[in-house]
Formats: sequence, structure tokens, C-alpha cells
Amino acid sequence: MKPKAKASNVYLVDLRGSMESSVLDRLKTCVRKAGLHKIGREGDLLAVKLHFGEKGCTAYLRTAYVRAVLEAMEASGCVPFLTDTNTLYVGSRSDSARHLRTAFEHGFSYGSMGVPTVIADGLKGGNYDSIKIEGQHFDEARIASDIARADSLLVLTHVKGHELTGIGGALKNLGMGCASRAGKLAMHSDVRPYVSKDRCTGCSKCIEWCPAGAISVKAKKATIDSDLCIGCAECIVVCRFKAIRIDWDMSVSLVQEKISEYALGVAKTKKKIGYVNFIMDVTPQCDCYPFSDAAVVPNVGILVSLDPVAIDKASADLINAQPALPGTALKLAKGKKKRDQLKHLFDGLDWTIQIKHAERLGLGTSRYKLIKV
Ligand code: SF4
Ligand code: SF4
Repeated sequence: MKPKAKASNVYLVDLRGSMESSVLDRLKTCVRKAGLHKIGREGDLLAVKLHFGEKGCTAYLRTAYVRAVLEAMEASGCVPFLTDTNTLYVGSRSDSARHLRTAFEHGFSYGSMGVPTVIADGLKGGNYDSIKIEGQHFDEARIASDIARADSLLVLTHVKGHELTGIGGALKNLGMGCASRAGKLAMHSDVRPYVSKDRCTGCSKCIEWCPAGAISVKAKKATIDSDLCIGCAECIVVCRFKAIRIDWDMSVSLVQEKISEYALGVAKTKKKIGYVNFIMDVTPQCDCYPFSDAAVVPNVGILVSLDPVAIDKASADLINAQPALPGTALKLAKGKKKRDQLKHLFDGLDWTIQIKHAERLGLGTSRYKLIKV
């Protein structure tokens, strides 16, 4: 029998603060305890991957925390830069010019952060390095060039729900978030949405959001042209009548496994990667939409680790241990029985697929030791 993998350390900073012990100071201590300041060497170009939030989103990472992590990383002697990749859909981050403007408007400027920002896949998302991998779905991953070529990588993630992956954690930020446009397309290629005619009111909102021009409305009912659809899943979220559906079992499994394989592609470009997961403002959807819905569970804290699988498993477990907040997208549970809140958020969507596949690929372990700082 194969011996069980050793548990990975995951450090937790809760959000209690006092004059003697601020959250920011404990976050810095945590970064050092977890060994993140040792992921790179003196003079290394350190890519700090985060999500600047779509214009209109309000739940993206708070700049004070990002700055604290950057200060803690000064001990490494690395030369950090903030980075993200352009989006598949048309929005305020679909090319580098708009993306940088949005980042600055959200407080991620050189003046406030003390480090420059580089959009890693070039002006229109076409710059990538092809990384060989041995996955079940891919034998190469098309990773944004400036992330692939950076000497070291730190991944800062706002943890939230996601309509395809159940949880938007470190694996999603690493796999989907570091991919070029071509890579994102490859991961989304199996998502095939269709319209439930009974629910569709013909409001045309989905047409405005479809980046591929794949949706038309005739006789007050929307139709999706599957030859044009690129599987970005935008329409699923924008339809408030829940008229756009997907084959959850197939779409959800494939996209999650593919994300884990791309995460492996990024991991292959670095010796070690550091991860910081912020479990606060846990909104139902990711930060790619021009709005943020109310957080569905209370804020938990900040996790730090060198293992993307362990940190995501710990994040999910901590979220699932929380009660649902009233008046949010997460319906309150009946009775006191514990339940999987993430699964409940999206019609039984299984968020564990990405974790299990990442574990099979050797990216890390779902066994973790939670250490409170
Ligand atoms: S947004 Fe929904 S209800 Fe409106 S046209 Fe599209 S599918 Fe129909
Ligand atoms: S139909 Fe939906 S999933 Fe397909 S490209 Fe348009 S918005 Fe994206």
C-alpha cells in the first residue's frame, strides 16, 4: 500500500486585532513562519499574482493586506511586481491598457503599493510560453509569458464561490488565472450552456455579455449557437432567471480537472510557489463580474502555505464550518446539522474534483496541519 503523504502546514491568521497584536503584523509573521520569504533568492523577479477585480466589483483583495505581504517578502531580497492576465470576455480587464487602468482605480498603483504592475500575457492576451505537462487532458499548458519567465511566484487569492468550480481558490488562481487567452479557451472548451425555454423571458441581457456573439433572441426566447460559444460561462451568471444551464456533471468535472493541469504547468516553471488565501468577503461569484453579491458566510481569516492543494482544502473546510449569513444567496440550513456550504451554493456542484485531480497530479496533498498564528 502506498504510504499516505505527509500533511502540509497551513498557517491561519484569524481576524481578531488589538493594540498588541494587529492582523497585519500577524500576517507578516505568518509569511515568514511558512517560509514564503525563502521561495526566491536575492535579485529574483518575483511575480505576485492577484486579481484586481472587474470594474464594479467591490470584494477584491484589500490593498492593506497585499502591502503587508509585500513588506514581509522584503526579507527575500526579491524584486516583486504585481501581475494578472487578461480576460476571455469583453470587460474592464480584457486588454492590458484597460486592465492597468482598472488596477490603478482599485488602488493597485505604484504610488500605493510601491511596486510596478505588469499584465503577464501582453497587450491582448496573446503572449504565452508553452509548458510541457503530462496530464489526462493536456500535454502542454499555455502560460502567460511574464509569469512563466518570472524567477519566483507568490499567489494571493481572494477565496469565494464560483459557478463552475464551486470554490475560487489558489488552484483556480494558479491554473486559470495564470493562463494566456489560448489557455483559458482550452480549459473552457467543454462548457456547453443551453437555454431553458420555460425560464427565458427574452430580456436579452445575456447577449450584451456574450463575448463570442453566440446568443440570439427570437420570439422572446434566447438560443445559443454551440459552434460560436467559447464556454466562458458569463451568460450563466448574468441571467437572473437562471434560464441558462449547463450539463453540470460533465462541464464541471472537465473544467476543474483542466484547471488543475494548468496549475501543474505553472508549478513546473518554479522551484517553489507561495500561497496566501484570504477567506473574507466570501461572495457567491468570482471577482470577474461588475458587481459583488453579499458575502454568504462570516469572514474567517487568512491562510498561508507552500501547498496549493492543502491551502484550498483548508479554505473549503473552514468555509463549510461557518453558518450561512441570512439574506444572502446561500439559503439558511434547516436545523443545526453541518452541511457543505459550497456545494449548497451551486445546486450540488462538487468542488472537490479540482483538489482530487491536483493531488493525483502531485501538486500537493489535501492532508493539512492547521497552525494558528
Ligand atoms: S438573460 Fe436569461 S432570460 Fe434574458 S434572454 Fe438571456 S437567457 Fe433569456
Ligand atoms: S454563450 Fe455563454 S458561455 Fe458561450 S460564449 Fe456566450 S457567454 Fe460565453
